[in-house]
Amino acid sequence: MSQPQPRFIILGAGMSGILAAIKLRTAGHTAVSVYEKADRIGGTWRDNSYPGLSCDVPAHAYTYEFAPNPEWSGYYAPGPEVQAYFEKVVADHDLMPIINFNAEIIRCTWRDTPGNWQIETRDGRIAEAEFIIAATGVLHHPKTPDIAGLDDFAGVKFHSARWDHSVPLEGKKIGVIGNGSTGVQLVTALAKRGIEVVHFQRSPQWIMPVVQFAYTEAEKAVFRQSREAIDAIRYDPVYFGNIQRFTKGVVDTESPMMKEIEGYCLMNLEQNVRDPVLREKLRPTYRAACKRLIYSPDYYEAAQRPNLLTITCGIDTVLPGGIRDKDGGVHDLDLIALCTGFHSDRFVRPISVEGRRGATLEAAWKERCNGYYAISIPDFPNFFMLNGPTSPVGNFSLIDIAERQWSYIEQLVARVIDGNARGIAATTAALADYESRRITAAKATIFGSGCTSWYLDAHGVPITWPWDYDTFAEAMATPEFEAFEVI
Ligand code: NAP
Repeated sequence: MSQPQPRFIILGAGMSGILAAIKLRTAGHTAVSVYEKADRIGGTWRDNSYPGLSCDVPAHAYTYEFAPNPEWSGYYAPGPEVQAYFEKVVADHDLMPIINFNAEIIRCTWRDTPGNWQIETRDGRIAEAEFIIAATGVLHHPKTPDIAGLDDFAGVKFHSARWDHSVPLEGKKIGVIGNGSTGVQLVTALAKRGIEVVHFQRSPQWIMPVVQFAYTEAEKAVFRQSREAIDAIRYDPVYFGNIQRFTKGVVDTESPMMKEIEGYCLMNLEQNVRDPVLREKLRPTYRAACKRLIYSPDYYEAAQRPNLLTITCGIDTVLPGGIRDKDGGVHDLDLIALCTGFHSDRFVRPISVEGRRGATLEAAWKERCNGYYAISIPDFPNFFMLNGPTSPVGNFSLIDIAERQWSYIEQLVARVIDGNARGIAATTAALADYESRRITAAKATIFGSGCTSWYLDAHGVPITWPWDYDTFAEAMATPEFEAFEVI
C-alpha cells in the first residue's frame, strides 16, 4: 500500500453506503469519506415518500444486524419510520462529519500511481482513495412512461419517487399508473382515505396475503431489554424458513415451495375478491413471483371500495383533463401519479468509471451489467459494489444481502492491505465463468418464466442471483481468492 492509512470513498449515503461506512470505521479505518449527491442520507427511503409507503419486509429483519431497533411501531414499518431509523443510526455512529452532501460524483478514474482512484464531483472537487465502495442503489432513476399525451396533461403529475407534498389530495380525483409494489401501496392508502382513485394496471399482480399488526408498548419494552426478543422475530424460523423456501422455489419453478407460493396467492384472489368481474380483471396470466411479489394485507379490500376504480384495458391517451382508456372510457383527473418504476439497469451510472488498461464501466457493461459474485469487475481493482448487478433480489431484506456482501468485501480489502498490494479485482475468466453459470440458471428461475419486470436485463434474462439463499450465504462467507488478480 502506498499510504499508511488506506483511504476509502463510498459512493452514496443510502442503506448500503451507511453500512460500509460504519463497518469500515468499526474495523479501525479512519480515512473514510462518503459522497452523497443529495442533501440528506437515506437513498430510496429519502426519495420515496408517497402515501402508503411501507417496507414489506418485517421491520426487525429490515434492520442492521449491529443496530437493532426496539421502537419499530409494527411488524411492517411505514416508510418515514425506516428513514428515521437510518437517520438515527447515522447519528448514533457519528457519521455526519464524514458525509459530503450535495456532492455528486461524476467520474472515478484508476491511475497507475499511488492513490489508485481519483474521484471528481460535479462541482469540481477532487479526492483520492485506495478503495471505492459503490453503494449507489438499484431503483434510483425514475422511469417516465412513454404514453401519448402525457406532456399535455393540464393537472398535476409526478413520479411516485418525486412526491410533491405541497399538493393537497383530499377532494381530488387521482389517476395512478402502474401497479408494482409502489402503485399497490399508493392506491391502497388513497382508497382507505376515501380519495377517488382510478388505477391503471397494465398487468395485474399476484398478491401474497400478509398480516400487519402494531407492537404494544409492553412488547417494545421487552425489545428494549432483550436482544433475544428482537432476534426471535428477525430470525423467526417461520419468517426465515419462508425466505429459504421462497428462494428455493424461485430457482426451481416446479418445486413444492413454488406451488405453495402460487397456492397462497391464488387462494387470496379467489377468497378475498368477491365480485367475479373484478376478480378476473385482477387475475394475472403469468406465474406468481415472476414479477416481484406484492405483499399486502389490504389491497384487495381497498380494490373493492367504491372510490377505487381499476382499469385494465390499457391507456389510450392522456388528455388535458384526464385519461382515455382503450375501451373509450374517459376518466377526468386532477392529478396523475406515475408509479411506473425505475431504470433498474443504471446501477453505478451515470458516473463515468475508468479502470485499468483503458477499461470503462460503460464498455464493460455494454452487453449487460454484471460483476463477479455481484461485487468485483475485472480491471476495476479495489472497486467493490454493494447490491450491484446480479445481487439477490426478491421479497427479503436487502440489508441482510448487503451485510453478507460486506463480509466478502472486507476480506478482499484485508487481502490487499495485509498483502501490501495495490489492488484486487476479479479476473476476466472468473467473471466469464460466473456469468455463464449464472445466466443459464437465471433463465430457469421463475423470474424468467414469461413476464415483464425490472428483474430482466435488455435481453430478457433475469439480472439476479439465480441460486437460493443458502448458496448466497455460503458464497459470501469466504472469497475464492483464485478468482482474483492481485496487483
Ligand atoms: P415496478 O415494480 O417496476 O412497477 C412499475 C409498474 O408500472 C408496473 O405495473 C408496470 O406495468 C407499469 N408501467 C410501466 N410503464 C408503463 C406504461 N408505459 N404504461 C402503463 N403501465 C406502465 O415499480 P415499483 O412499483 O416502483 O416497484 C419497484 C420495486 O421497488 C419493487 O419491485 C420493490 O423491489 C421496490 N419497492 C419495495 C417496496 C417495499 O415495500 N419493500 C415498496 C415499493 C417498492 P407492467 O407490469 O405491465 O410492466
